[in-house]
Amino acid sequence: MSLVIYNTMTKEKAPFKPIEENKVKMYVCGPTVYDYLHIGNFRGPIFFNAARNWLKHLGYDVTYVYNYTDVDDKIIDRAKESGTSASEVSEKFIKIFEEDYNRLGLDKHDHNPKVTEYMPQIIDYVQSLVDQEKAYVIDGEVFYAIDKFDNYGALSGKKLEDLNAGQRVDVDQRKKNPFDFVLWKPAKEGEPSWQSPWGEGRPGWHIECSAMIKSILGDSIDIHGGGIDLIFPHHENEIAQGEGCTGCKYVNYWMHNEFINIKGEKMSKSLGNFITARAFMDEYHPEVLKFLMLSAHYRSFLNISDEKIDQAFSGLARVYHSLKAANTIVATFEEKEGATVLKSFSQTLAQLDKKIEKAMNDDFSTNEVIASIYEAVRAFNSLNLMKKKKDPSTVPTAKVFKEWLHKYGQMMSLFDLEAESFLVEMDDILLKKKDIKREEVDALVQERSKARDDKDFAKSDEIRDKLIEMGIDFQDTPEGPVWNVKI
Ligand code: AMP
Ligand code: ZN
Repeated sequence: MSLVIYNTMTKEKAPFKPIEENKVKMYVCGPTVYDYLHIGNFRGPIFFNAARNWLKHLGYDVTYVYNYTDVDDKIIDRAKESGTSASEVSEKFIKIFEEDYNRLGLDKHDHNPKVTEYMPQIIDYVQSLVDQEKAYVIDGEVFYAIDKFDNYGALSGKKLEDLNAGQRVDVDQRKKNPFDFVLWKPAKEGEPSWQSPWGEGRPGWHIECSAMIKSILGDSIDIHGGGIDLIFPHHENEIAQGEGCTGCKYVNYWMHNEFINIKGEKMSKSLGNFITARAFMDEYHPEVLKFLMLSAHYRSFLNISDEKIDQAFSGLARVYHSLKAANTIVATFEEKEGATVLKSFSQTLAQLDKKIEKAMNDDFSTNEVIASIYEAVRAFNSLNLMKKKKDPSTVPTAKVFKEWLHKYGQMMSLFDLEAESFLVEMDDILLKKKDIKREEVDALVQERSKARDDKDFAKSDEIRDKLIEMGIDFQDTPEGPVWNVKI
């Protein structure tokens, strides 16, 4: 079964064929580093991390480039507001991004180029477009002449005639076509600038990605990704630059992730309806953010709500509870010599392997992977291994379940936490939300046990009702009472 990818360019799924056998060159547009990123901004990094890992799992040698836009109006404005320099702002927020990224436990990219480190390549690129008369210079400003590029609009489906019909009055009259875009612009007083054949200036936004792609990956790449809002004009302009400059096909597969919405609206800084990834991770947990994101297909809207967060919480709790049970079995029971995994369970896992293979090969359907993981958890729990101490397959079955879960967890950067302590952390998060102290619950649970021991059933029932009212689930086990916070 081979991988099929939905290509925004052709608007359909197509079998994946790399340019070079067994190699994948992949580029995803990274953040403009002027502020904390919100959870919507992290949908791309979380999803493309899993996609890259799946490609690796399929045996491809993947080179994944994710850039930082560290020259931009927003950075300059932020520096002015805060009385610092643009580079101080960008360096600060690159560091913050990297802290968030690492806290999420996502695998590293192969390259994180910054615009400021690619200035000679950007200038050469613009020069090449000027030399080929695909770009023109006016007063130290360089514009791309989109009329020189036949396929302009192919990615976004926009037609030049329609674009022109919508021409606005405030268009720069020096442009040959209102949709010609800036490749290089003169720097204003006090702005960061670089020496170029057209004077002191800085690059336009789109050129950086084309120049970095050419320098690091080459004239043509396999996969280019980004958020759906980047299709036009950013990616449309990248194609015009790339194909205009090299004459080669710029990208074979265009992949775009849909937005994260909140209360039905796009989460965005300008609307002010965002939660920073940092705040989300502080309030919940990095694991919850990843699980939430990957529970939906990357091309579908994901509407974040308290209910969705609760679902992610309870889903994760389910997975980690069974991991904890598997750990306990491995730690408690002895492995019998020659013991093998329960046949019916290994058959279930083999079937789920096929399901997951199919789902990931069908345009990286992580949502279906999560559904299969629930199936495995259900199958494992229904074996009730704790009650089958004498069954020789107990330990190998628990071990194989753990390994199976870790295999897919690694692909999605999930399920790698120590189950026991993560479940305690989850309870603490929920307790905090309910404004209840852990010691309070422990004391009540103990008091109830004592009442039961004393045969004071009225008191024991009263405490039980109180615990239920507080949202605490508890069970009496041979090892004593165990409690969890209800989600
Ligand atoms: P920006 O800071 O707006 O340039 O966004 C950086 C990246 O985050 C881009 O790839 C956007 O497509 C993506 N992005 C911004 N808002 C959202 C959102 N609400 N949901 C998903 N992706 C988003
Ligand atoms: Zn880009």
